[in-house]
Formats: sequence, structure tokens, C-alpha cells
Amino acid sequence: MTARPFSMGSSGEPGAGIGMTSQRTRDRMVQRLREKGITDQVVLDAMARVPRHLFVDEALASRAYEDVALPIGFEQTISQPYVVAKMLEAIRGGNPIARVLEVGTGCGYQAAVLAAVAREVFSIERIKALLERARANLRPLRLPNLRLKYGDGQLGLAEAAPFDGIVVAAAAASMPRELADQLNVGARMVLPVGTTSQQLIVVERTATGFTERKLDLVRFVSLRTGRE
Ligand code: SAH
Repeated sequence: MTARPFSMGSSGEPGAGIGMTSQRTRDRMVQRLREKGITDQVVLDAMARVPRHLFVDEALASRAYEDVALPIGFEQTISQPYVVAKMLEAIRGGNPIARVLEVGTGCGYQAAVLAAVAREVFSIERIKALLERARANLRPLRLPNLRLKYGDGQLGLAEAAPFDGIVVAAAAASMPRELADQLNVGARMVLPVGTTSQQLIVVERTATGFTERKLDLVRFVSLRTGRE
């Protein structure tokens, strides 16, 4: 049985009385994800539970369940729901995953969804102020299996490696080898690769090396070096 850390009772959820952020709105978002080809029920269930409107500015809350990326400050964006679903479906490959690393916490939304589909989640962010915001956004959800880290995620997180899945939420010019090296054999990393045009790539570690598979064309902010 999967733990259900997200209480969606109409009384407890902030904004539950406002139609635009209700469970029904979230269910409609999930229905659209299904229509766009997401089939992994574990991922769909997780996205039906995580209150995405809590991760965007109050002024944008009414748009939180549209299938678009939205600004979160610091020139960064919260990823489009379809892309989050696609990435998590890709690393799961239909199987439960134990330990996952996310590079690029941003506002913390995808980290919360990951915490609902994986046993243990580490998420690393290079912008200190954004990490603090993510912490504040995530606090009310009380996710004991999610740990946030401040640092340059291009180097991965050696202290917690190897991982059963890695999700990179910012685009790299080429596949970051240091990250791929922190995958367990049989585990997958999904990431956007490219500069002007980007594509989601799934890298799988095999006993002898790596295989690569291409998914959708996407638009992400760039992976950057160092911390700020
Ligand atoms: N996961 C977020 C999306 C965040 S946008 C969501 O749920 O919507 C991408 C994030 O990656 C930004 O916050 C950006 O600061 C961060 N980022 C870019 N390069 C990074 C790096 N090298 N290490 C860690 N985070 C990085």
C-alpha cells in the first residue's frame, strides 16, 4: 500500500473553497494528462493529490492547473504538469522506485510529486532563496521522505548515491556524465538536453554502459554551474 501523505479534506486544504484550486480542478488536470498519453496510474494518482496551487504565487493560483509552465521568480519556472508526469513515468518504467535525486528543486512541486511515487527523495537547488521558498511551500505537506539540499546538482549528490532514478529539471547542453555515474545498474535518468531546441532524453545504466532513448521536445530553463 502506498502512503497517502496528502490530506485533501475540504476543511484542511487552503483555498479548497475556491473552485479554481479544488480537488475537482486537479482531477480535470489529471484527465487531460491521460488524454495526452500519460498511462502510469501511480504518477497520475500522485498528481491528483499534490496541491500545485500552493507552489505558485497567489496571483497565479487560478492558473496552477493549466498545462503550462508558470514563473516562480529568479527567472525560473514551475514545470508544465505534462512534462512532470512524462519524466516521472519515464524513470519509474512501471516499477516502484526506492531512492531518487531531483536536480533543480525550484518551487518544490515536482519534489512533492516525487515524494508520493518514490520511497526516498533528495532534491538539490543552486539558488539559496529559491530553496528557502521551496522549504516554505513544502512544510504544510509534511513529507518525511523528502530531503532538500543546497548545491550544484550537476555534480549529483555523492553522499546519497547511487540512485534508482534521477530527474533533471533544467536543460544541459550535453548529458552530464557525473550524474549518470550516480545511477544504479538498471536505473534511469531523465533530462532535457539541448540549447536552442531541447528534447527529453532517458539514459539507462546497464551492466556495461549506458543506453539512450529520446522522448518529447521540451522547453526548460538552463542548467547552470555553481551556487548563488
Ligand atoms: N522542479 C521544479 C522546476 C524548477 S526549474 C518544479 O517542480 O517545477 C529548474 C530549477 O533548476 C531552477 O530552480 C534552477 O535554479 C535549478 N538549477 C539550474 N541549474 C542547477 C544546478 N546546477 N543545480 C541545481 N539546481 C539547478
